[in-house]
Amino acid sequence: MTTVTVEDLKALFTRIAEAMTREKDRLCELDGLIGDADHGIAMELGFAAAAKAVSGLDATTADPTLVFNTAAKSFLNAVGASSGPLYATALMRAGASAKGKSSLNDDDMVEIFTAFAKGIQDRGKAEVGEKTMVDAWAPAAIACRAARDRGQPLAACLTAALEAGKAGADATKEMIAAKGRSSRLGDRALGHMDPGAASAVVIIACLHIHFTS
Ligand code: ADP
Ligand code: MG
Ligand code: MG
Repeated sequence: MTTVTVEDLKALFTRIAEAMTREKDRLCELDGLIGDADHGIAMELGFAAAAKAVSGLDATTADPTLVFNTAAKSFLNAVGASSGPLYATALMRAGASAKGKSSLNDDDMVEIFTAFAKGIQDRGKAEVGEKTMVDAWAPAAIACRAARDRGQPLAACLTAALEAGKAGADATKEMIAAKGRSSRLGDRALGHMDPGAASAVVIIACLHIHFTS
């Protein structure tokens, strides 16, 4: 059984922030094709702010809920793009899911993953098939939960989540957008991956690496 501590969560936010810096240009290019080319900047700013804020928390007194809530507030303040409220809501839901726990086990982490993905869907009201980050998060959360229900440990649940998230992001290439900026493009969005789905895969890959290495 994995035990995820406040220190682990801090390290995770740093890992995601570093990954977003590496992926910034690619995410901006994807957004440039079907949006306004700022998605990489938004994700880098948001996770840099979140990582910085949580790194300042005292691990002897902070609990996982405080880590997620602090990250949510910083992300929202740092990001003006539509990904700001989507990820802030996801992080708040993660915080609510962790309520009362001083560390997190495999079941808790799968619950948090599920709550996080549902937060994005509740906030943005997008369904699968509408060419958004939901096309990566929703199948990833379902695969994560299904693996846990089969008795798989967290690392294997995240492997399943990553595979499903990647497949979901790939599938957005064949979709016409129904939500967000790119919905104005109609079938001109065909052939391009949704940038929000691409960055969702970056986040899931960070989780996966953290718990499999
Ligand atoms: P903006 O479009 O405001 O510049 P970003 O570029 O940061 O914001 O994010 C764009 C991404 O946000 C899209 O690629 C899509 O994945 C996601 N998105 C937009 N609207 C929604 C929504 N209603 N629900 C879920 N995701 C959405
Ligand atoms: Mg954009
Ligand atoms: Mg924008």
